[in-house]
Parts: sequence; C-alpha cells; structure tokens
Amino acid sequence: MKSKPITRRNFLKLSAAAGAVAVVSGCTVNLQQTEYLESYVRSPEDALPGEDTWYATTCRQCPAGCGILVRVSDGRARKIEGNPIHPLNRGRLCARGHAGLQVLYNPDRLRSPVRQAQRGSAQFEPLYWEEALQQVAEHLASPRPESVAFVGGYGTTPDHLYWLARHFLQALGGLPPLLFDLYNVVDGRTVLAQTSVDLFGVEALPVFDVAEADVVFSFGAHFLETWLSPVAYSRAYGWMRRGRAGKRGVLVHFEPRMSMTAANADEWVPIRPGSEGWVALALGKIIVEENLGPADLARRYAHLYEKVDLAEAAHVSDVPVEKLRTLARAFADAHHQVAIPGGTMAGHTNAPQAIAAVHALNLVMGQVGQAGGAFLAPSPPFADFAPSPVASFTQMQDLVERMAAGQIKVLFIHGSNPVLELPAAVRFAEALEQVPLVVSFSSFVDETALLADLILPDHTYLEGWGYQVVAPAMDRPVVSAQQPVVRPLYDTRATADVLLALAQQLGGEVAQALPWPNEVAFLKEKVAELRGLGVSAEGFWTAWRQRGGWWPEGEAREVPEPSAAWNQPLEGVLPDFSGGSEEALYLLPYLSTALSDGRGANQPWLQEMPDPMTTAAWNTWVEINPETAAELGVGDDDIVRVISPYGEIEAIVYLYPAIRPDTVAIPIGQGHLQYGRYAAGRGSNPVDLLAPRVEVRSGGLAWAATRVTIIPTGRRRRLARLESNIGVEYAREVGPPG
Ligand code: SF4
Repeated sequence: MKSKPITRRNFLKLSAAAGAVAVVSGCTVNLQQTEYLESYVRSPEDALPGEDTWYATTCRQCPAGCGILVRVSDGRARKIEGNPIHPLNRGRLCARGHAGLQVLYNPDRLRSPVRQAQRGSAQFEPLYWEEALQQVAEHLASPRPESVAFVGGYGTTPDHLYWLARHFLQALGGLPPLLFDLYNVVDGRTVLAQTSVDLFGVEALPVFDVAEADVVFSFGAHFLETWLSPVAYSRAYGWMRRGRAGKRGVLVHFEPRMSMTAANADEWVPIRPGSEGWVALALGKIIVEENLGPADLARRYAHLYEKVDLAEAAHVSDVPVEKLRTLARAFADAHHQVAIPGGTMAGHTNAPQAIAAVHALNLVMGQVGQAGGAFLAPSPPFADFAPSPVASFTQMQDLVERMAAGQIKVLFIHGSNPVLELPAAVRFAEALEQVPLVVSFSSFVDETALLADLILPDHTYLEGWGYQVVAPAMDRPVVSAQQPVVRPLYDTRATADVLLALAQQLGGEVAQALPWPNEVAFLKEKVAELRGLGVSAEGFWTAWRQRGGWWPEGEAREVPEPSAAWNQPLEGVLPDFSGGSEEALYLLPYLSTALSDGRGANQPWLQEMPDPMTTAAWNTWVEINPETAAELGVGDDDIVRVISPYGEIEAIVYLYPAIRPDTVAIPIGQGHLQYGRYAAGRGSNPVDLLAPRVEVRSGGLAWAATRVTIIPTGRRRRLARLESNIGVEYAREVGPPG
C-alpha cells in the first residue's frame, strides 16, 4: 500500500473501516506516512469492560529504571504513574516517564519485520518472521571468530537480553555485547565507575544522600534534570529543602551555564569549563588550612592538598580566592554536607582528577558513608545481578575499526542509535558499509536502522518482558521488573525469542548453550535466584510481577572504603580542548530534559514540552551570552553556523544571560533525519561537532572538550517558545531609547 498523508477524508475512510488493521502486502512501503487505527474489537479476552487493571513494570525512557504502574482498561494502556512501593522513585515520575504511552501508540512504529534491498533507501519490504530468521541464520552459519557483534543501549536493552545475547555471542565465538548510548556518556557513568575503582576499590556508581544533607555542593551534576536518577534525587532535594521542620538545606551549583539544577540552587557559580576539580581542590585546601572540618581528618588528609596553589586555582576557575574562602566556610560550617561530582565535569579530559578532588571534600569532612554524605550504589547480593557493564567510547572505536576493516560479518543493534549518538568523526555509518549483514531490532526507523538490511522490531517496553538492575540504586539494591501491560499491538517479536529461535536453527553448540524454549522460561530461571528461602518459584514469580521487582525491605547502603590512592597528594590538571583558536568558544552540549539524548524526539508530548530554562521547543537553539552575541553581531532568532574542525551545524540563537561569555550551550535531542514524523528533519545534532577525544583513564568520550566558532548566516527563524521576546524584538528594530 502506498502511503498517503492523513487528511480528514482519509481519516474518515479509515474510521469507517474500524476493526480492519491496515495490511501491508508484498509491495514496498514508506513507513513514515502510514496511519493505522487500533480497534476496540481486538480487546483481549481477559479484559473486563469498564474495569481498570494496574500493572507494575519499569520505565525505559532513560537508564534510571524507575518503577511504574500502568492503568489498563479494555485492553488498552491509558495512563502511567509511579509505583509507590518502588524504592527508587517511590511513586514519582518525570515527564518522560509519563510520555511512555506515546512509544506504545506511536503511529510510526514498525508493524512487522522488514528488509531493505538497498540500505538507506527507506524502501522497506515486509517479510515473514521465518523468512527473516532464515536469512540471519544463513549469515551466522560457521562464522569466523569475533565476526559477530551486538550493540545495545544501557537501560533500553533489558538486562536479561544483555545476558542472553552474551550467551549467544559466546557460543558463536563473537565479541561480547556492548551497551552504549549517549545518555550514559553524558551522565559520565564510565568515568564515575572507573574513579570508584581507583579511589574505593569497587566498580560502582556513587550515590549521595541529598535528602539528609544540610549543604550540597554540586559540581555540574544535573541531578534535578537528567543525571543518573533524576526522580530519586528530585524527591531527595524536596525533602532537603522543606521536608524537615525548621531546617532548609542549601544548594550551591558550579557550572559554566545556569542549568535547571543551577536555577534551583541558592547560588550558581559560573566557573570556567573544566575547572570543577580546581575549585574542589581549593575548597579542600582552605578547609584543611583553616581547620574548618574535623581536626583528625584535617591532619590525616592534609597531604592531599600539598601541591594546591589557591591563586592558581582561582585563576583557572575564574573564582576569586576570597569567594573560594567564603564557599569553603559555608560548606564546612554545616552539620551534614556533601559534594557531588556530576555529569558536566565528567565530559572533560581531566575528569578522573576532578572527580577525585570532589570526593576528597567528602573525605576531609568525614562525610563518606555518613548520613547526608556520599555512598556507593549497592548491588544485589547475587553475582549475576551486578549492573550490566556500560561500554566505553574506546570500545566503540575498536568496534568501528573492526567493522571498517571488514572483520565484522554480522552486526546486531538493539536500543541504541550509534549513527546519531556517536560523533560524526567516528564514522560509524561509513564503517557499517563494510558489514555484510546489519540487523536492527528497533521499533522505529531511526538513523542506524535506516542503514540496516533487516529490521526485526522488538516489542516496546510496555509490551515486553525483562528486568533492570537499577544502577545506581539509592538506599538499597533494586532489580526492577518489566512485564507486558498489553498484548503486542503488531507483528513484533521479543529479541530474546529471536535469539533463541536462531540458536535452535543453528543447532549444535549454539543450541546447547541456549536451551530455553522461550524468553519467559529464561527470565523465570534468571530471576528465580532472587527468591528468598521458603518462597516457591511460582510464588516469587507472582510477587515479582505484582510488586514490580525485587528489593530488600530495609535500607542497605554501601559504605566506601578509601583505597591506597588517597595516600598521594592530589593535583590540578588542566582540561584539554580540541578545535579553534584560543578565542573560540567552549561548546557545552547538554541532555534535553524532554528529549534526553534524542530517544524522546518521536514523542509529540516531549517535543511540545518547553525547555525549563528557555521555554523553547521543537527545534535546536544555541545559547549565547548577550555580550558575546553583540561581538558576533547576532541576536535572538538569528540562524548561525556552529563550526568545529569535526563538523558544522546550524542553530537558532537564544540570547542567554545565564551563561559565561566564553561558552555556548546547545541541547542534545534533535537533528534526526529519520525516526518518524515528529522527529525527522527538525533541528540539528550538536554531537556532530564533537572531537573524538578520549578521557584516557576510563576510555570515555570527553564530550565537553570541543571549541567552536559561530558564523552568522544572515537568515532568521523564530524559535518556538512560550516566553515572549517581543520587547527584545522591539528594541532591536527601534534601537536604544533616545
Ligand atoms: S527518570 Fe528515567 S526512568 Fe525515571 S521516570 Fe524519568 S525517564 Fe523514566
């Protein structure tokens, strides 16, 4: 069926045919424009008319792993709420979590497996599952060692699927699966976990007891927006601010740009990009020198600050020494204080040293492992339930090199969109051309799926099974359950079942390594380990689905033990930047609170949601300080070219007084060329500008290490925004008064 844009006439025709789901026959179709109606006639047998049922499952809109309850009536999912007993979010949700229904009912979902005769053509031919599996199995027959690879997304690829893919690839002699997505890169998970290994001997993400803190110093941690567990931290922040009678906690935020977290702080300190560690070192030195903290700790840790020069730190960070002294006293004066090393600082080449300097503040104040202080994320007490590892940028670069060299014969991609999410300079799309078979499991035709031979759509997360080891869980380990809340709407199939079917088809050692008859059998066996003594397997399975996962009743925090690394003095390390001259501007990309790393761009509620700081929506803007804009000769709504040595994009100027004049900021999330009608052809992708710089210790992408130049284009376009800039427009047209 050739697609047509939906007109009122078409809509009425379709309505008249209620109950008949559009059928795609052997012809090629443009999937972007086809509209389907879901009929009430297809209501599930077990649905009681007029009765609501609530199902507990897990949100997959970001890697946090919040527990959700979905209201289902007449077989249709109607509303998503937070699961009140889930220890991570305790009934709360963010806007992205609420919008999850628009993933399930998205009109641009793939309805069946498809193949593309020519990659990138967007001409898809539907095929039967058996046909699709046969085609993949033929490519997998007698593979060379390390010639099969699987790229997943952390949080979007459920943990059980990660483990199943691991078994599958191991049996095939393939590479271990890699979980990589931009969200986790900007969160700084790789470098935060690596720093925990170096400083505390445990590979775990840090967690911070914001709720019980009196003073919080946040070094670029957007914990009220997107960072790690924003719902859990927002709840903790609410408690810190006004949950305790007569006590209101204080938040100070260090960052070159005023983010939403900074706007909620008592004080925003606009430091120079990449200088977070220098500020932390200076604060620590003042605390120790002036004996502001516990005296025994000042003596024990004085050596950490032997090499710190306050004047140098002030120069590097652009924060005067007197101001640093005031801040250090305010931090030390509190009963419970905590310093948080966050996402923005994790994007610099000096991230490990900077993170260590921030952790040191908690150490010298005796706040490691104390109420209102710093902890490590607890893991479930079962080896198989450690959080799935996040792939580093260097691991992805290695994969790209193997692909480009023709060493990868089959590439599976699930829940990740590397063509959009890796810097263009990595040349992932070009390397794909050398892979004979690319199989995507995406529910949508995104930029990577467009370059695949086959798309075998998985169920969406509201239709599928799974679990997620929550990382970081806050006060106890949590394994969050995922279960279908509705029957799959279309002819999609669980990727776990696809891998199991392929294993059976391949036979021999591969079939032996994956003996489970289906996904649910594997999942049941996997989670059975979590059941306590005296609980039957079936009893646990029922409770697992009713509660929405597994967690212990009481708190179980992980107290970090300082390693030998703390015997050495700390040193300030200057951040390194790529691109442009010294006069070029620092580029600060940031995750959109609505679209996050771009995965939310196909959901109109999220597109429509105004950015909390600029009120802008539906496009990409570049935030420029008015002083800098005047030097560049640009104003609000001017279109500019943003150029780095690695790429170039266009963006609309947003004059933003709350950013340093030497820095420009661009939200991540737009710039899709594909991904459905709400996302495609909208805005631009700042990731295309990034230098492929590596933070050496963790192998993470130094995503904040690029400088750019801005060139006016002479063109203008009004940015969709809620706030009015009529006054600005007027001043621009009539000039200054008098
Ligand atoms: S923080 Fe993430 S997991 Fe939690 S509700 Fe929001 S999008 Fe979902």
